[in-house]
Amino acid sequence: MRIDVFTLFPEIVNSYAELSILGRAQQAGALSIHAHDLRSGATDARGTVDDAPFGGGAGMVLMPEPVCSAIEQVEATGEMHRPLYFLSPGGRTFNQAVARELAALPGFSLLCGRYEGADQRIIDHACDGELSIGDVVLAGGELAALVIVEAVARLLPGALGNSESSEEESFSEGLLEYPQYTRPASFRGHDVPAVLRSGNHGEVERWRMAESLRRTVERRPDLIAARGGLTQEELDLLAAYPPLEAE
Ligand code: SAH
Repeated sequence: MRIDVFTLFPEIVNSYAELSILGRAQQAGALSIHAHDLRSGATDARGTVDDAPFGGGAGMVLMPEPVCSAIEQVEATGEMHRPLYFLSPGGRTFNQAVARELAALPGFSLLCGRYEGADQRIIDHACDGELSIGDVVLAGGELAALVIVEAVARLLPGALGNSESSEEESFSEGLLEYPQYTRPASFRGHDVPAVLRSGNHGEVERWRMAESLRRTVERRPDLIAARGGLTQEELDLLAAYPPLEAE
């Protein structure tokens, strides 16, 4: 998969993309991330890319000419993939389902805003859509781009060490993940649930499913509603595995 990221700070994207899972995915050939400096599209010697908003108001706005020509330079190579998404708090909310959609593509591209945002004509005529990472306002699109790139990258075959580890986790079945434990079995007087040490795989699986359901009911009733409520089987499972006593 190829991902092109247009940004005023390619070094932010590149430095993160070299490490850990993104670095490994790139080395394994599953992913290539290309960060492009929007200033390469500037038409003056100072590399100007922003200007004051028409109509007044605080802050600066990315100008259409430099941004569009930076995109066109890369698109002309024939290597860049669309869709190209503008990152914006006003975009479609990115989540695990969108990550799975993007992971199925051969590639896509991201445009990072800065300052107050970008001239609307860039979004209307050079981009194919807008993505938001949630109801929060960042100073620029770079972290949002990295959130998206990382969430997509870990779904690519060969990116995670254990190919199963992205299958059974939060949101994969519309549920939050069950609690996880590792050694030691007793930590400062707090014990690992006995069922996890029972060696009974069927029991472990049922307990995990019950915990997953309980967590989701308690913390994210919206997710339960989205899957149409609980089935009788799920209600029975919750009753069979009541919450553990707090220690
Ligand atoms: N004035 C804009 C916010 C600009 S923040 C507004 O009120 O909507 C500057 C840039 O950061 C944006 O252009 C966008 O690219 C990025 N950004 C900020 N918050 C974001 C979010 N929640 N998701 C994706 N990108 C975001």
